[in-house]
Amino acid sequence: MRDQFPIFKHHPSLVYLDSAATAHKPQCVIDSLTKFYSEEYGTVHRAIYRGALIATDRYNDTRETVRKFVNAEHVEEIVFTRGTTDALNLIALSWARTNLKPGDEILVSEMEHHSNLVPWQMAAQATGATLRTFDGMPTITSATKLIAIAHMTNVTGTINPIALIAKEAKKVGAILVVDGAQAAPHLKIDVQALGCDFYAFSSHKCYGPTGLGILYGKKELLDSMPPIFGGGDMIDRVDLDQSTYAKAPLRFEAGTPIIASVVALKAALDFIEEIGQEKIAAHENNLRIKLEEGLSSIEGLRILGTDPDKGPLTTFAIKGIHSLDLATLLDLKNIAIRSGNLCAQPTLRKFGLETATRVSFGIYNTIEEVDHFLSELKKVIAKLQTP
Ligand code: PMP
Repeated sequence: MRDQFPIFKHHPSLVYLDSAATAHKPQCVIDSLTKFYSEEYGTVHRAIYRGALIATDRYNDTRETVRKFVNAEHVEEIVFTRGTTDALNLIALSWARTNLKPGDEILVSEMEHHSNLVPWQMAAQATGATLRTFDGMPTITSATKLIAIAHMTNVTGTINPIALIAKEAKKVGAILVVDGAQAAPHLKIDVQALGCDFYAFSSHKCYGPTGLGILYGKKELLDSMPPIFGGGDMIDRVDLDQSTYAKAPLRFEAGTPIIASVVALKAALDFIEEIGQEKIAAHENNLRIKLEEGLSSIEGLRILGTDPDKGPLTTFAIKGIHSLDLATLLDLKNIAIRSGNLCAQPTLRKFGLETATRVSFGIYNTIEEVDHFLSELKKVIAKLQTP
């Protein structure tokens, strides 16, 4: 597996433990980008010469691959965005701004990445709706119009009961927005079984190119929403004084899209599916369990999130040691881990912290790396604790 990732040929001693931030790229994704740029490049949708038709086919192939990847009913339910952040902001700027009013309620989990919190704060401010946060299961009332929650959180790794929340949301007609940024690279996603209205994730965490995200949205919802960007490709008819818009997904893809990244995303998703999500999850969870066994013997170390069924990441804090010092010294040993606020300041504050350290796994990590990390971590802690 590791051989398929060129980064490790260029940096053989690199121990990369930050896949929750972004994943390295397998050769097949790099090859797909190179092949498209060298042999097939063209614009999409706009032109009828062969290069453009081939590029459009490739672009549409990926949309169908994504549809299958998340088990959406219709290919029109897949919108390409610039990332998870962009996808969540699209809903906040479009659906929320046109459907919410004072007295309505947005429910957001307290364990969210800033990307799934700040857009809802902004939507509440703009519409006069009330933003209410919850821990665990949301208390849904008749005022609840939108619920936003991560499928898997990026600090504790908790996997939330999305299907259960969707069932409760449906009872009051609230829409459910799921941030799938952390879940999509590790879990089999089935938006129909989950019953959510929107599901957002990023290509770059799924071994695909950067600058590209995916928004799944139910067809009737997407078609009812106003576009947030105007320009080429998102229109039906344009007159000097007004325009009508294309249906979803093109309605939300104004301008020349991120063509090459979309094309190469197909290679990334095929790569994941060829290995199989169950196999990937089993491997990564073994690494996480082994890591947490090792961490539990370190004095003063607290793991944030101890759900046995969590995803393949472990966030921890060590009494008296700053996460940035730890990460800096480990970097000198070629070990890459995440430190800081993890883009989740309110989550960390719930644990009484401003910063923490996170180790997260991808399919290229090995058990030897876990052993090596634990041994180097102990040395770094000893060094930092020496007066
Ligand atoms: N949500 C979660 C749970 C995440 O972990 C991340 C990425 N750190 C995001 C949203 C944002 O993803 P992106 O930066 O790709 O837009």
